[in-house]
Amino acid sequence: MGVGRLVGNRFNLVVSLRHNADSPRLEEWRAAFERASALLFDATDGQHRFGTIYVCNNSSGGRNADAWLLEPDGRSTSAVRGIRSETGHMTLYGDERFKPFIVIHEFGHYAYGVRDEYTGTGGTPAECIGGSTGDACIMEAAWTEGDRFGSNATGGALSLFHPRAA
Ligand SMILES: [Zn+2]
Repeated sequence: MGVGRLVGNRFNLVVSLRHNADSPRLEEWRAAFERASALLFDATDGQHRFGTIYVCNNSSGGRNADAWLLEPDGRSTSAVRGIRSETGHMTLYGDERFKPFIVIHEFGHYAYGVRDEYTGTGGTPAECIGGSTGDACIMEAAWTEGDRFGSNATGGALSLFHPRAA
């Protein structure tokens, strides 16, 4: 159960590393959540951002966590409107520590209950803006675009907190 709560205009959250993460990796996650918070602030016209993020390392705190942060790379998911629910949480794979756009995409499912906009009913393609093939919102493109804005990343990469070369 995600115990996160909105206090004022800030979401206080609990994340649980599902492995024993070292300090550099924790710093990468911190940077991703800071950048995701800035995206949330922008997307909500300054109404919401992240507040305190409580970090539980080495598989602790999983029952009450809003997000499970996994060690392997993969395709992340989230319970829709999982916040404050009995069983819901975000499941964020390791590569999302470099992809704050995906963090905020999954948070969109988790906190606001908004759905994906890259597929329509029955799996047919969908578009946020009718008649356009351009990507227009976080729920339409974020999981494919990763840490980049715009169609095919033509808007350029998010440079803040970009990961150092491994
Ligand atoms: Zn999604």
